[in-house]
Amino acid sequence: MHCSANIFIVCSGRTTNDPPSVGLILGRRPCLQADAKLWDVVPAYCLLTSELKSAPMHRYLDLSHPIASGMSLYPGTPMPRIEQIHSVEKDGYSEQKLTMHLHTGTHIDAPGHIIQGGKLLDEYSLGSFHGKAITIDCRNNASEIGLSVVAAYEGFIGDADFILFCTGWSQYWGTPKYMDYPVLSPDLCRWIAERTIRGVGMDTISPDPIESEALNCHKILMMKEVLIIENLTGLEEIIDKPVEILCFPIAVKSADGAPVRAVARVIL
Ligand SMILES: [Zn+2]
Repeated sequence: MHCSANIFIVCSGRTTNDPPSVGLILGRRPCLQADAKLWDVVPAYCLLTSELKSAPMHRYLDLSHPIASGMSLYPGTPMPRIEQIHSVEKDGYSEQKLTMHLHTGTHIDAPGHIIQGGKLLDEYSLGSFHGKAITIDCRNNASEIGLSVVAAYEGFIGDADFILFCTGWSQYWGTPKYMDYPVLSPDLCRWIAERTIRGVGMDTISPDPIESEALNCHKILMMKEVLIIENLTGLEEIIDKPVEILCFPIAVKSADGAPVRAVARVIL
């Protein structure tokens, strides 16, 4: 049995912003038919509202930079172009054209980005892009983030699917200083790769130095199929808070990387 549009009409009066929980709870009710009329589901609605009242409330934090002119780019990457192709005034509808490299802005890297024959984004299950995240405060760190930084978090990390490194560098987004960022140490990346961590994220443009051709951190992580999310923002707000991260890439066939709308879901 599947939920129908009718069922969502029933819930449209809710003032909370938690549709995933609504969907989850509705999905558990086999009595709701796809062709149910509004009056058929009213008794179910009464039950649902009592369940929803006790459901946890969430806040969503945007961890993504907008795609816009003037954004920071890896050397050699062209600036994205957003063109107005049609307008309501001339054509009766508005349509814009976006031209950009896939590794631009807040995006996710798949192993195939660096490793010949490596896994591509559409070979990962959707669940790979959602999980528990712990954000480590690296704002007072040197130019390289090493193993000592994670020592204090060892107890929390055991349970995490994603580790996010907050360097505070997103404040320099769009300025030359953004390119002079702290990197991860290869030892730290090896430590991550030895665990069951599915992804790492950072508020910088790369885990490796900008001038690196060896891309050691990328390679160490990608050999274990650890996803890398680059150019995050707003990590300061979730330091030390256990959150869920959602970082679904746009659905591009056989992509070695793609822009994501990275979001943290915080339980209130
Ligand atoms: Zn990338």
